[in-house]
Amino acid sequence: MSEGGEMITDADQDTQVVTLDDREVRLTHLSKVLYPETGTTKRDVVEYYAAVAATMLPHVRDRPATRKRWPDGVGQDPFFHKDLGRGTPEWVARRDLSHQTGTSTYPLVQDTATLVWLAQMAALEIHVPQWRFGRPAASNGAPRSPDRLVLDLDPGEGAGLAQCVEVARLARRMLQDMGLDPVPVTSGSKGLHLYAPLEGHDSAEQVTAVAHDLARALEADHGDLVVSDMKKSLRAGKVLVDWSQNNGSKTTVAPYSLRGRSRPWVALPRTWRELGSPQLRQLELDEVLPRVRRRGDPLADDVEVAR
Ligand code: ATP
Ligand code: MN
Repeated sequence: MSEGGEMITDADQDTQVVTLDDREVRLTHLSKVLYPETGTTKRDVVEYYAAVAATMLPHVRDRPATRKRWPDGVGQDPFFHKDLGRGTPEWVARRDLSHQTGTSTYPLVQDTATLVWLAQMAALEIHVPQWRFGRPAASNGAPRSPDRLVLDLDPGEGAGLAQCVEVARLARRMLQDMGLDPVPVTSGSKGLHLYAPLEGHDSAEQVTAVAHDLARALEADHGDLVVSDMKKSLRAGKVLVDWSQNNGSKTTVAPYSLRGRSRPWVALPRTWRELGSPQLRQLELDEVLPRVRRRGDPLADDVEVAR
């Protein structure tokens, strides 16, 4: 695909088997168009995920992965999967997770082979919670302590990315006062996510409470710009600071995941400097790799802290 990227597929063959991490992944219908507006094919998606794997994997590894699949391309209704489907290769890592209505077996995206297999399944979007399996329990004994805090900034009707940036800056200052250091991610859809690495001493409930307090404090100080209440009607012209995704049973789209929107936008970690640019916009698949090669991963330090 793009400059310096190793193609993993043979451009002439619609069906083929590639070997990654000593696993054989069977790829089919590679020339199928998944994004009609841009002509982006399943091959492009497979090549994207293979190339971004080294950067993306640290952010998804050991987390239960919910997938949104568009087998017939965007514009169709996606299939939403928590459970592993039949036909999942035996080498895909998995963990059980119980929830209100039963137990699901989720795949873990541990390696490039798994990411490419998901691309083969047209799982354009990968969503994960803010905790990992295998982390020690929180100091209060609660399991699955989050290793990052997330704030999801959602622009209401009449607001956009520019307002999200304004709110992100205000939130950053408050988080910094708490000793946290957030990194922005343009969501690949309408808004922005902020991620701050945590050391994992607090439960998901505690982190959710902190995020909620922060959202209310922002609203109290900047009522013209911020809402902390989910009610859609309150959001017009403002930005909802959605604190609720710190809940242990909720997910957020993973950093570097594609989105199933009209164009192949990516949930992309950005620098604060970039966020200051008046030209800031959501970026597409073919813009991501050259950028990652040139500038590295703005979220990389988060993974270091969280280890
Ligand atoms: P945008 O920038 O447009 O808000 P987003 O990915 O942040 O894009 P949201 O609607 O704000 O989308 O949702 C935030 C996250 O919550 C999603 O990334 C997804 O992981 C999760 N989510 C949203 N809606 C659902 C749903 N119906 N079922 C399960 N998870 C959902
Ligand atoms: Mn959002």
